Amino acid sequence: MVSAKQSKIVAMNKMVKIHCPVCEAKNVQAKVQFAVTQKYLFYVIPLEQVRRTYVHCSACNSRLDSEVHYDEITKYTAEQLVGYIHPGYVITTGIYAVLTLISGAVFPAGFIFFLGGLAICKPRGGWRMVLIWLSLPIQLIATLIFIIYKYTLFVDIIRFFENL
Ligand SMILES: [Zn+2]
Repeated sequence: MVSAKQSKIVAMNKMVKIHCPVCEAKNVQAKVQFAVTQKYLFYVIPLEQVRRTYVHCSACNSRLDSEVHYDEITKYTAEQLVGYIHPGYVITTGIYAVLTLISGAVFPAGFIFFLGGLAICKPRGGWRMVLIWLSLPIQLIATLIFIIYKYTLFVDIIRFFENL
């Protein structure tokens, strides 16, 4: 399927204060932007329009997705916006959190994943952090099993694919 999208910024004359989840600057000025993205099929057939509000952190220049609509955002304080503005790589942090959980069981030491997960998923919080913390006891158990029985699930997975 050949598709295209065209973004049009329709409004950007508001400023809000945010606690930036990327650079962690507190009460930093951020420019608010409202963009309409028209998606096309085969470059010509218009599909749905995606309307999004973005804020731009003036400290680190990150573009953050806002769940609070452009019309409402100035009613919010920096404190209230925490959790409603986040970097665009939402899916990536989710996938990373899931990988961290799996790595704990597969490798006897997925601790590097755990540390990376802490750093990457902390700004988003929520269920991602639950998975990250959950991976820790799983890793401990997997590591103990490895030490005691010299067994790792990773080897079994490799063997499974070798035997296909
Ligand atoms: Zn920032």
